[in-house]
Amino acid sequence: MTSPVWHPFTQHALAGAMIPVARTQGAHLVAEDGRRILDGISSWWVITHGHRHPAIMAAIREATQSLDQIIFAGFTHAPAEQLAAGLLKVAPPGLTRVFYSDSGSTSVEVALKMALGFWRNTGEARSRIVVMEASYHGDTIGTMSVGERGVFNAAYAPLLFEVERIPFPAPGREEATLAALEAACTEAPAAFIVEPLVLGAGGMLMYKPDLLKAMHAICARHGVLFIADEVMTGWGRTGTRFACEQAGIVPDILCLSKGLTGGALPLAVTLCKEAIFQAHYSDDRTKTFFHSSSYTANPIACAAALANLAVWDDEPVAARIAALGALQEELIAPFRDDPRFENVRRCGTIAALDLKARDAGYLAGIGPLLYDFFLTRDLLIRPLGNTLYLMPPYCVTRADLEPAYAAIAAAADALA
Ligand SMILES: *Cc1c(COP(=O)(O)O)cnc(C)c1O
Repeated sequence: MTSPVWHPFTQHALAGAMIPVARTQGAHLVAEDGRRILDGISSWWVITHGHRHPAIMAAIREATQSLDQIIFAGFTHAPAEQLAAGLLKVAPPGLTRVFYSDSGSTSVEVALKMALGFWRNTGEARSRIVVMEASYHGDTIGTMSVGERGVFNAAYAPLLFEVERIPFPAPGREEATLAALEAACTEAPAAFIVEPLVLGAGGMLMYKPDLLKAMHAICARHGVLFIADEVMTGWGRTGTRFACEQAGIVPDILCLSKGLTGGALPLAVTLCKEAIFQAHYSDDRTKTFFHSSSYTANPIACAAALANLAVWDDEPVAARIAALGALQEELIAPFRDDPRFENVRRCGTIAALDLKARDAGYLAGIGPLLYDFFLTRDLLIRPLGNTLYLMPPYCVTRADLEPAYAAIAAAADALA
């Protein structure tokens, strides 16, 4: 019997059967047939500490004893209040307001709407958004508009709005990026949106904190709102809780999702500075921030996120991340001298490298071949074209990762 389920980012005419997962445990997916598959990409970047962290699972069970979804206009609840207060304690200082939604894409949509609302309500109707080439901010029409254009959104291009693009700051090309941002900012755009330190879906492209700091300074000088999309980079991936910390910057608007609940449940927040809230605070109802999702601030998801904050307080998460970063560095280092690979790179817990191939790019035939190659070795590694990366949950061990790197070397042998 064929399944009626239409899976995401899946060409069903070419894909094999989906693997039914019976349970998850730590860094692994356990299939119905008993195979233990290493989750080398944290189930698309959401699982931070590990699958089914006991404290987060317990918090979810506990929350279901008293609350399910409640309307969040006119009403509130303790998990949302406590979580907002807890987030402001750990977020870059100067962010004062927390708006809830339910996915990374909605957190970015909210950020863009906050930015435009800010300008409209303060009497200057700015609407242009500046973005970085190779960015990814989600799959809704608005977030695709501010992301890189390509095969993924070609069909929808007529609906996407125009943005101003600055080049990715590849090593040696940093000045061109800063000059382009400077030029774009002189034309009074509403905001600049960027993924701090690592551009995920664009190919795990990495740049240095000093560049992030310089881009932020340019925006600040021109009064252009700076939106940090930390949906992927947040919650420790880059070696600090938030990537912005490494540049010592405070964005005007910060988007968080994925690891916010440790990856257990869907939840997102958009944090902003007081001036953005104040621009919407008025006895004039037309200045209201007109946005809501049905599942805004789901209490069970908020309880999971609160438990995640407690894990960060109660467990040596920072030390775990540092150790994972060092282990990733040790295991990827030999590839720096391997002529079959290039752009060997690491930022915090994320390690990536490009397999030299004539047929590169996301749709490169090589991607599915590699994916299958790894899967036969019980490894979930999902290449972005010819880019291979490992972004495992923080509970992963050396014994888990060594075979993964051996498989990457074996893949290059097999292709040679
Ligand atoms: C995944 C991602 C998003 C979108 O998040 P969803 O929860 O999939 O909607 C937005 N921005 C970045 C940087 C992401 O990696």
